[in-house]
Amino acid sequence: MTTVDTRAVHAGREDLTALGVHVPPIDLSTTNPLPSIDDGGDAYQTLATGGPLPTGASAVYQRLWNPTVARFETALAELEGTAEAVAYASGMAALTAALLAATRDGKRHLVAVRPLYGGTDHVLATGLLGTEVSWAHPDQVAAAIRPDTALVIAETPANPTLDLIDIAALADAAGPVPLLIDNTVATPILQQPTRHGARLVLHSATKSIGGHGDVLAGAIACDAEWAARLRQVRALTGAILHPLGGYLLHRGLQTLPLRVRAQQAGAEKLAAWLSDQPAVTRVHHPGLDDPAGLVGRQMSGPGSLLAFEVRGGAPAAAAVASACRLITHAVSLGGVDTLIQHPASLTHRPVEADAKPDVALLRLSVGLEDPEDLRDDLARALAAS
Ligand SMILES: *Cc1c(COP(=O)(O)O)cnc(C)c1O
Repeated sequence: MTTVDTRAVHAGREDLTALGVHVPPIDLSTTNPLPSIDDGGDAYQTLATGGPLPTGASAVYQRLWNPTVARFETALAELEGTAEAVAYASGMAALTAALLAATRDGKRHLVAVRPLYGGTDHVLATGLLGTEVSWAHPDQVAAAIRPDTALVIAETPANPTLDLIDIAALADAAGPVPLLIDNTVATPILQQPTRHGARLVLHSATKSIGGHGDVLAGAIACDAEWAARLRQVRALTGAILHPLGGYLLHRGLQTLPLRVRAQQAGAEKLAAWLSDQPAVTRVHHPGLDDPAGLVGRQMSGPGSLLAFEVRGGAPAAAAVASACRLITHAVSLGGVDTLIQHPASLTHRPVEADAKPDVALLRLSVGLEDPEDLRDDLARALAAS
């Protein structure tokens, strides 16, 4: 069995030698020639009901199937240890598809564990997609399940507090109800949720998988049964990933293990340094605070995302974010350059007051710069506040 580093480089490229090429072709065709009405009709029927492309069949139309996107999906599934993966135009499109696929048999109730990404929280809290949410602490999930519960939703490490949740315990609590874990922050390099009982693994591929801040995308890794449901939602509602995005994400996976480990090493250094700063009241990083011992057991490392609270509340946090020079003041995470942002004002702005992140909290996504240069920038920014 090869290691994840080797699989990341080669996954989803099995057909290239036969094609006589070394890198995956970017197939931009929106429509595909049909060998005959019968063959084209059969392929259409299969794809529009969520089936994968039958061998040798016409892909018919890009909203139904695209080979460049499919290669990325194959590679992501291999890294997540799932049978399949389904890619979307954004992480939120992937979440929408999961909600539509889970609730289509009339069950409309969801159980969700906060904190979640602000956009996810917003979709669930508004009930925009016709769902009804019960917010539950991990210990209360079993009690919150109802006969009409369609899905349990959680994120670990959670964004932006970096709290860890025991996925296996949550899967137990969910019982027969499928568990969706947002694995964006951990990436499949550090954590594979289906090994611990999750049924669906959500990614905002915009973040670490793309890794360079130039692709907006989402994906769900899962078994074949769910993949068919999710592909049907995608084919019918249209939130397909563009093939150029599929190409870039597939390329991004090749360096994902290296990037994740290098960024994580930088985050560990910065988290330790921040913990000693008088202007910082608290540092959140799974490497520092892991009461249940999940780093090493569920996650192979603490990851590259951290958060810290500054003395002086919201004004001090705003001053630190604005005073950074090397570090960019911007939302998003997981890329090669370091970003800082204030979740209470930005990514988690829509979250209801009682669940909003602390106003003194800043989130730092550590990139590939020399950690000492990042430390100097933060030292200056903290002094300026
Ligand atoms: C960004 C993000 C999302 C949403 O993904 P988009 O690609 O922005 O639509 C969902 N979950 C997490 C944890 C995120 O960071």
